Parts: sequence; structure tokens; C-alpha cells
Amino acid sequence: QALISITDIGRKYVIGTETIHALKSVSLQINKGEFVALMGPSGSGKSTLMNILGCLDTPTRGEYYLNNIRVSEMSEDDLADVRNKEIGFVFQTFNLLPRSTSLDNVALPLVYSGVNKTNRLARAQEALENVGLGNRVHHKPNELSGGQRQRVAVARALINNPSIILADEPTGNLDTKTSVEIMGLLEEIHSKGNTIVLVTHEEDIAQHAHRIVRMRDGLIENDYRNDNVKSVS
Ligand code: ADP
Ligand code: ADP
Repeated sequence: QALISITDIGRKYVIGTETIHALKSVSLQINKGEFVALMGPSGSGKSTLMNILGCLDTPTRGEYYLNNIRVSEMSEDDLADVRNKEIGFVFQTFNLLPRSTSLDNVALPLVYSGVNKTNRLARAQEALENVGLGNRVHHKPNELSGGQRQRVAVARALINNPSIILADEPTGNLDTKTSVEIMGLLEEIHSKGNTIVLVTHEEDIAQHAHRIVRMRDGLIENDYRNDNVKSVS
């Protein structure tokens, strides 16, 4: 059963007299446990698609079912809940709160989930240990390297045990060695049964995924199983 099922979705922007079809017609099914890389030139619609998958944006046509629930029928409250609990976001620029420690950054989604403080801190501590940052819990983002910041962001993305991790260019701001380390971490997370969709420009990075979807001009150009998965370990 598909975790994500989108059928013939479109997303257009109307600006004055101009209409931009960011997504023309995209259909895609992603099953639980898949590791998908989304590639394509700048402007091909990758971010638009990721925003829709993450329930941050709504298609102007077509249907999106997440866990068999029709996203267009969800209330704003349901959507906020889905974004917090079902989806783990990882961004190129980390998006951490600069004045908060690693522990507080990772614990934050649990505030919205109504978890009490003692449990929040215990779970954030464990999540940071799981990404190899047990010794950096009281550091703030500017006291961490880029790779460490991204590990904090990954720990935060995982804290509510989401159904899916959406990672938009997670290695875009990292050097090659650190990028490989982050891909190793994503592989480990995938091996535990997590579903991952990763946007990347880098062919080397995409080769870590088990399925590669290429977009062009708001359409899926091709979608295939990667028979030569590159592994860090
Ligand atoms: P709406 O009916 O709300 O204006 P659309 O503009 O998405 O919705 O679709 C209007 C028609 O144009 C539909 O028949 C659709 O299949 C077609 N269409 C939508 N996007 C494109 C596109 N990028 N290129 C060509 N045809 C499109
Ligand atoms: P990618 O992530 O592949 O670079 P995007 O999804 O960001 O592509 O953009 C796809 C197309 O939609 C581009 O032509 C872009 O200019 C347009 N677009 C994206 N967001 C907006 C927006 N908020 N308003 C108008 N056009 C947009």
C-alpha cells in the first residue's frame, strides 16, 4: 500500500496576466521504506513537489493521499498536525533556531505534540545520541560544524517518528566528506525502515537512493530503480 499517492497533480501560479505551470501533471506513488532521490534542472518543479508532499502547499489540481488520507480534505489543524508528526523536514540551510541548544532545537517539535518537558529532553537527548551528537547537546548552532548542524536537523526531523523524511538538498551546503557522512546517516535511517525523499543536484548523492525520479518542466521525465546503489558503509 502506497504511503504517498499523488495522481495527476498540477500547481500553477498566476502572476498578473502570466500563468506559470510549476507542475503540469505529476503522478507518483511512494511505498513505505523507499529511499527516493528527486533530480532535475533548476525550475523543473522539485521544490514545488516537495512542498506539496510536505503539506506546505496545495496543488491546483489532482489528488494527494498520504497514508490513505486525502490531504485536500484535511482541516488546517489536521494539516499542522501532519506536518509536525508525519513529516520530518531537512533543509539545505539546516533551519535551526540560532539561540537554542541542540537539545532544545531537537525537542521543539515535541512541544507541539504536547509531550512534557522531562520526556522531551530525554527523547531529544536520545535522538542526538542516535546521530552521534551525544557530546554536543548543549551547543548552539554557531558552535557546531555544518555537518553537526545537519545532524541536529536530522535528529529533529526524526523526533516524532514521522512516516516520511523530506530532505531538500541536505548536502547542498556541505563539503564532499561531510556530505558523505550525512548520506551515511540517511542510509542508516533508511535501513531502520524509514521512508526518505531527497532532492539533490548531485549525481553522486542521488546514487545513494534506491529509486531516482527525474523531473523536467513540471513533469516526471523518468522514474527508475537504481540498480547500483552507492553505500557509505
Ligand atoms: P484550471 O481548470 O483550474 O484552470 P488548469 O489550468 O490546471 O486548471 O487546467 C486547465 C486545462 O489545461 C486542463 O485541461 C489541463 O489538462 C490543461 N493544462 C494544465 N496545465 C497545463 C500545461 N502546463 N500545459 C498544457 N496544458 C495544461
Ligand atoms: P526547482 O525546485 O526544480 O528549482 P521550483 O519548484 O522551485 O523548481 O519552480 C518551478 C517553477 O515554478 C519555476 O518556473 C518557478 O519560477 C515557479 N515558481 C515556484 N514558486 C513560485 C512562486 N511562489 N510564485 C511564482 N512562481 C513560482
